[in-house]
Order: sequence, then C-alpha cells, then structure tokens
Amino acid sequence: MKSTMQDSPLGVPLLMRHVARVNGRSRVGAFDAQRQPITRTFAELAARAGRLGSALEQRGFGSGAVIGTLAGALPEHLEAYLGVPASARVLHTINPRMHADQIVHVATLADDEAMIVDAGNLGKFHEIASRLPRLRLLVTVGGPLPGDLAASLPCETIDYEALLAQGEPRLDWPIIDEHETAILCFTGGTTGLPKGVGYSHRSVWLQAMSLCTANSLGLGSASRLLPAVPLYHVNGWGLPFAALMAGADLALPGASLQAPDLLALIDAEAPTLAAGVPTIWSDLLAHLRAMQRTHLGALTTIACGGAQVPQSLIDAYAALGVRMLQAWGMTETSSMSAISQTPGWIASADRATQARCAAAQGRVVCGLEARVADLGGTLLPCDGASVGEIQIRGPWVTHGYLGQDDHAHLHDGWLRTGDLGTIDADGFISLTDRVKDAIKSGGEWIPSLALEEAIRSHPAVLDVAVVALPDPRWQERPGAVVVLAPGAGATPDELAQWLVTRVAKWWLPERWAFVDALPRTAVGKMDKKRVRQMMLERIDAAATAAEQC
Ligand code: ADP
Repeated sequence: MKSTMQDSPLGVPLLMRHVARVNGRSRVGAFDAQRQPITRTFAELAARAGRLGSALEQRGFGSGAVIGTLAGALPEHLEAYLGVPASARVLHTINPRMHADQIVHVATLADDEAMIVDAGNLGKFHEIASRLPRLRLLVTVGGPLPGDLAASLPCETIDYEALLAQGEPRLDWPIIDEHETAILCFTGGTTGLPKGVGYSHRSVWLQAMSLCTANSLGLGSASRLLPAVPLYHVNGWGLPFAALMAGADLALPGASLQAPDLLALIDAEAPTLAAGVPTIWSDLLAHLRAMQRTHLGALTTIACGGAQVPQSLIDAYAALGVRMLQAWGMTETSSMSAISQTPGWIASADRATQARCAAAQGRVVCGLEARVADLGGTLLPCDGASVGEIQIRGPWVTHGYLGQDDHAHLHDGWLRTGDLGTIDADGFISLTDRVKDAIKSGGEWIPSLALEEAIRSHPAVLDVAVVALPDPRWQERPGAVVVLAPGAGATPDELAQWLVTRVAKWWLPERWAFVDALPRTAVGKMDKKRVRQMMLERIDAAATAAEQC
C-alpha cells in the first residue's frame, strides 16, 4: 500500500528557507580576513546566500554548473554553502593547501566554471588559473583585484560584494531532485590523486539531521558550535549544515586554526561545542598550558576525530572540564559515522567491556550500518576480537567516485573503508590500523594505533608514529618515530622497556628515530606515507655510511 505522505524533496533549498524563516535570529560570529570580528544573523546569511545564487544565475551559470572555492572558514564561504546548492548549482570546496597540480586535477575533473577565492589564496589561484580553460569567473572575497592584476588573468574577475549586489535575495528556488549533487569534496589524496565524492541534497540533509540527534552531537538551538575544521575538509564535517538546521549559533574560525586564534574565538563567541582533528586540540592544550589557563569558558564538549584520539588528550581535556568524544568517519561517509557517546548501561557492564568502549572510536549513528570482513571479503563475527576491514553502508555513504567506473571499493554494495578494526556485540568499533599503514610481521598484524598509544603513554613522549619497515625475515617490522616532550629525554632502550609490560613482546619496534615534529597532511593529520619515507631514507643513509667505513 502506498503511503499518504507528501513527497517533498530534502535538500539545501528547504534548509535555506528554514534558516531564513525559523532560525533567522541565530548568528554567526567570525573573524574576517583582516581578523576583525564580524557578526551576521542567519536571516542576513540566507538573504546574502540568495543574492549569490541569483547573481550566478543572472551571469549565465546554468543549473548544475560547478562553482569552486579556495577560501578559509569565512562567512562568505558559508553563504556559498547555502546559495550555490540552493540555486541548483554545485559547490566544490577545494583544499588550497594541495599542490597546484592537484588543484588543477580536481578543478578539471569537477569542471569548475567559477571560483570564489579569499585574499589569502589569490597566490594559489594565480598558479592555476591559466591551466583551467573552462574557468570563466574569479570572485574575490576581501576586495576587488587591482586593475593590472585582473588584466593579467585569463578569466573575468568580480568582487564578491559587487556580485551580490547584482542578485536578488530570493528564497523561492526551483524544486531540485534530492538525488542531485549539492557539494563536491575530494579525498585527501595521501595515497594518490584525490578522488571526488558528490554529496547529494538528500545526503547533506540526512547527515546534518543525524548530527543533531542526541546520540551524535545533539546540536540544538541553544548550542553554540565551533567547527575547528576547514570548510573544504569533508564538507566541513557537515557541521555548518547541522548548525543551520538546528539554529545553533556558529563561531567560524576564518582563515586560521592556530591555537592563539582559536582561543581568541572561544573567548569572543563562548561556544558550547567544538569539533576538529586531534592536532588542533593538542596545539590548543599546549597553548593553554603555556598561558597557565585552566578553563575554556562555556565549552563542555569537543568531538574529535579524523585520526586516532590519544587517551592522554581525552584525559587532559577532562581535567579542563571538557568531555572529548571520539568520532570516526571519512570523506566517503560524509564525515562522522561513528561517535563514542556513552550508553547508560555502561556503568553496570564488566570492566573489560567498559575499557573497550572507552577506547573505541564509537558506534555508528542510526541510519548507517557497519560490518567487518577479511580482505578477501569473508564476513567476520562482530565479537570485539576478529580484526578485519570495516565496511559501511547507508544513505550518506558514497557508492563511487567522480568520473570513475571502477567499483573495487565496494563489496556487495557496502563501502570498503580501508580501515582495519573490530566491532563488538554492542556495535563499538575499535580501529587498529588503515589497510595501507598496516604492519604484517611474519603473517600477523601488529596494530600500529595501539602501539602508538602505548608509546605515547610514556611521560617523555609528546607524539609518535609507528610505520611498517621492510624486514628480510619477518617481511615487515614496526619502526617508531618519536617527538619528545619539551625538555624531556628518553632513549630507545628506555622506551622499549616501557613497552615490555604494555604490549606483546613481538610488537616492540627495533628501529627508533627522534624528530622535532611529525609531517602532517593539509588538514593536520599525521602523514604516515612521509613518515615511512623518512625512516627508509634514514635506513639507506645509515647503510651507505656503514659501507663507506
Ligand atoms: P584522508 O584519506 O585524507 O585521511 P579523510 O579525512 O576522509 O581523508 O580520512 C578518513 C580516515 O581517517 C579514515 O578512513 C580513518 O583511517 C581515519 N580516521 C578518522 N577518524 C578516526 C579515528 N577516530 N581514529 C582513527 N582513525 C580515524
């Protein structure tokens, strides 16, 4: 029997109308490109977003035209989040920290016809503009380009405010099929060329709604959210859309995620909830300690993910009165897919279960399903012990990549995440590694995330990366690259001794290196590919030196 329910499409136009008509008084607080405080109500934001969409239409950017952005987390970028998809165009948020060749690759694949660029990224734009023949408009945020500079570009240029002045603040956009792409994001490209994922109007809506549920972030109209996440990283983790949906005030970090700037924003906007990768929060912690600050105002919760969250970080924030929730997700799953909210029954569970849940990445949010399989595809039990690749499916998980027909990343319609781990009987996911970073020693996996956590628990260790190194006998053995805490000292022997009582003896790394900082990706995650390369070069150099002696 067919239901009697109406079938109105989900998506950004519906969200935009809600923002304007119901959440109009909520506000965005931010720093502009000159680090001056700036405030906009959601109603103003929606009206300006409407003008943007209307002006793009008037300039002949047809339905489905792709508009790129090279910009920090500025209010104008947020306006593009709404105005571009609500007017049936596609927003492509580009990571400006990528190499110029990679930007040309993603902008060509996406077929960007216009680009919105803030003042800090104009240099990058100059590097790529002549290599993008389909690009016909540069929109500058932060003022018009000087005439001679504009004349040197192969496309027309216009100041963002001048473009807005050409549009109407209309909210009655055409009905868009909810399966059409609203936002296009590319993967980080740490393992090859970045791959494009198109988020549909429907998936954007459903994922934002899931972030608002209590078992996820529980965003509501009394929340004030600080997304300490670049807007180009996985659709800003979906956080801007969730805040707009909930009517939660937004504190936007602008172009900088540096600890002093974040702290200034926290002091100015008093967010109650924040989200970001572990590096952001460990940098902020170091800054707080240097300033002898012991509070973060109204901030009570931080959702932290994108990389393994060290227990020491969770404990340090707990001491500041902030609950750190670990979250797991990826570009392909529209960000946060699992989150470590604590269920009520945990208090009466046995100690082993309590410990496993506390260390886990979390449980999938309702709407997504996860399972575990070996690399051949055979399903494994969800018993908290069987390690395999986590597979996931759901309405905001991608089934493919832009311009690719290859479906090797799918298994019976489930996405192979490339993450290794276990799922227990209660649904808690515990990651052990990424498939590409895994260490297989004598046929057995050594979980690099657990080994890193054990090394990091040594008081002299600030950070560590464990990588697979080739070994003639065992095929692979772990090598550890350590960053020592300021003023602290530790030898490889001391660290190995520390590990003896904490991990299996055969996990102990034979090779150690000490560095001042670990290489990071553009979004602040540890870049294991470069760490491994660095270790291999050191081993080669040591072998050459030994031969020469
Ligand atoms: P990239 O491939 O550039 O890292 P993503 O930002 O999509 O792009 O990264 C997703 C990956 O980040 C996941 O597949 C997983 O390996 C890792 N990750 C995300 N959250 C966590 C977490 N809480 N713990 C460990 N790893 C995580």
